[in-house]
Amino acid sequence: MSAVVELQDVHKRFGANTVLNGVSFSVEKGQVVAIIGQSGSGKSTALRCIDRLETIDQGRITACGHVVSDPHVDLLTLRKDIGIVFQGYNLFPHLTVQRNITLALTSVKKMGRAQANEVAAEVLDQVGLREKTHSYPEELSGGQQQRVAIARSLAMHPSLMLFDEVTSALDPQLTGEVLKVMEGLAKKGMTMIMVTHEMAFAQKIADIIIYMHQGKVWEIGGRTLLQSPQTKELQAFISNGL
Ligand code: ADP
Ligand code: MG
Repeated sequence: MSAVVELQDVHKRFGANTVLNGVSFSVEKGQVVAIIGQSGSGKSTALRCIDRLETIDQGRITACGHVVSDPHVDLLTLRKDIGIVFQGYNLFPHLTVQRNITLALTSVKKMGRAQANEVAAEVLDQVGLREKTHSYPEELSGGQQQRVAIARSLAMHPSLMLFDEVTSALDPQLTGEVLKVMEGLAKKGMTMIMVTHEMAFAQKIADIIIYMHQGKVWEIGGRTLLQSPQTKELQAFISNGL
């Protein structure tokens, strides 16, 4: 079976700063991967390279059948296949929830309004926010806005979802409702890579946990990785919290 995502010896530098220093891992269809590690260890950069928001200096990346590291990769089709959600929700404040979701469908996918609205209803059901169809972002809580951002990504029917600390800005109660949506996606078989500080959540739903340190995959393992760390760095990370 071919991997949905594969990183092979990926190097990324910002000037003199080597941020990814030979990162390799692969993700099979339906797997959930949690990336953990200290701030500055290269987690966000790794995710951004998969979606080609950053180019790499060395190595190879494939995702959803695209050779992402090929300079000629078709970015439009790549980004139809990959959904990415960040800590900030980046919703358009002047558009309703429905229009935030349908915008890319009508403009990028050239779908008619009526059909796009049906897709919006379907994905809003998935995140439990159908009743907010005609609300504006400012009328929603942070957790609800983040769920709309997830719904907006799902509307493109991606085959891979990337999440970068999507709950970091939320208080615990709102965090819970967003994690529940992500857990639902995982259960439905979505292939997901998430950067997260939510260790309990990672241990609950991840098939693979990757601990990044100094731009490297320092440890990689299954759900129980955190119960038996092999390196003093991961031990320290676990015992110091974040
Ligand atoms: P993490 O998500 O693990 O906190 P990042 O991938 O955001 O780490 O950052 C890793 C390193 O790369 C940090 O030292 C950060 O300052 C640097 N970095 C990230 N993005 C840029 C950029 N666009 N330009 C220069 N340096 C960057
Ligand atoms: Mg980050």
